[in-house]
Amino acid sequence: MSTGLVSVAYVVASVLFIFSLGGLSHQESARRGNLYGVAGILIALVATIASVSDSGIVAIIIAVLLGAGIGIAIANKVEMTQMPQLVALLHSFVGLAAVLVGFSGYIEPLTYTTGAEHTIKLVEVFVGIFIGAVTFTGSLVACGKLDGRIDSKALTLPGRHWMNLAAIVVSVILGCWFIGTDSMALGIIALVVMTLIAAVLGIHLIMAIGGADMPVVVSMLNSYSGWAAASIGFMLGNDLLIVTGALVGSSGAILSYIMCKAMNRSFVSVILGGFGQTSSSSSATGDEDQTAVEASIDDVCEELRNADSVIIVPGYGMAVAQAQSGVSDMTKLLRERGVNVRFGIHPVAGRLPGHMNVLLAEAHVPYDIVLEMDEINGDFPETDVVLVIGANDTVNPAAAEDPGSPIAGMPVLEVWKSRQVVILKRGMATGYSGVENPLFFKDNSRMLFGDAKDSIDKLVSGLRD
Ligand code: NDP
Repeated sequence: MSTGLVSVAYVVASVLFIFSLGGLSHQESARRGNLYGVAGILIALVATIASVSDSGIVAIIIAVLLGAGIGIAIANKVEMTQMPQLVALLHSFVGLAAVLVGFSGYIEPLTYTTGAEHTIKLVEVFVGIFIGAVTFTGSLVACGKLDGRIDSKALTLPGRHWMNLAAIVVSVILGCWFIGTDSMALGIIALVVMTLIAAVLGIHLIMAIGGADMPVVVSMLNSYSGWAAASIGFMLGNDLLIVTGALVGSSGAILSYIMCKAMNRSFVSVILGGFGQTSSSSSATGDEDQTAVEASIDDVCEELRNADSVIIVPGYGMAVAQAQSGVSDMTKLLRERGVNVRFGIHPVAGRLPGHMNVLLAEAHVPYDIVLEMDEINGDFPETDVVLVIGANDTVNPAAAEDPGSPIAGMPVLEVWKSRQVVILKRGMATGYSGVENPLFFKDNSRMLFGDAKDSIDKLVSGLRD
């Protein structure tokens, strides 16, 4: 394929990626957005394969088939609840690719450069490998934390900010040395030492971030992986990778900013870490004599039958229990009885941005009754019954009422303002952040203990009778 044609294909693919991002911003157009993305990737792949020399084609085809085979096997096995850790793992691959491409681009450059152009090339290699190594190890730690293999508590070593600063300063010094040296052997030593430092920095940065901030970390690593891809694009002189990397990098950064706003956290404080440990100082742990009141299936059915308006607030537990289709059936039954049923979705409910929206869409819950936190928060005082299904941190009143709570100031769904709150969960466990929830002890709260799917199925049968 001629260079001109490859460039045209890359431009078309870039435009399709932009359309894809636009489509993914609304549930109604998300399917179309995905198709644009798939079409863009296909065009990019075909153009790339067609532009390499004959000797490289076999290697590329083997790599694509191997990658596709592994990808299909993983995609078939992974549960919806494991998506965040899969995403984190995929980010780590981008980081690793940036490191490998950086080393190979330095050892055997595609084009030989001199003067200022050569210096720019060396800076690209150095920065690309640095970002790639941080993304690689950081994403692996994020994956381990989300998967529960690594403790989700923040690791706060004494002097950790100084350690991070020292790692950055030493890397900058190594970078100056790398750019200044004419010896490839010395250059490689500088790169290897910097890669090790960046890898440790990636581990330390993410180990220091606690459970409650993990959503931001996932999207932040998404952003890093985009910039790592863009840096690979610069190293390889590939415009499509630069555009795609910049799109991923900037959209990840924007999402991180939006999530920080939703959690009332500053981006810098998230990056610096140390938040999200289990707090023993919080008064939200409740008084010893506080007891939660348990409700039976019959009680809840009765409440629902008598209600005019119901808001359902789903959380991670609904995803674990796979209760979404039961929830959809219950919604249908209640709406047939003339009850105004709506859903309130917190921006970080579940373990992935949009996690709840995807599950509800999969269960055919109509989009127009699924509302964002800001759209529905004012309606709780006029609501008869709120069903909290496997949500915990995102409905924790301590965020609004207890300035000493680790999640103080985080916007939450103000479910306790409704007439009656029914909380479906298995026991009195805390949510992901490890912060106790005083909602369970409010006068208008009732606990419906049990697996969310079992409870919902029983409620559906009760409402049918
Ligand atoms: P939480 O993690 O706060 O709480 C989930 C609750 O579900 C638990 O208290 C648990 O209680 C209950 N549960 C678990 N399994 C079941 C089951 N089978 N049936 C019924 N209940 C069950 O969930 P939220 O959605 O409210 O909050 C999300 C949290 O996750 C936030 O802290 C957020 O910061 C974090 N997070 C979010 C990400 C995102 O992008 N959305 C990514 C990473 C983290 P019990 O064990 O007693 O049943």
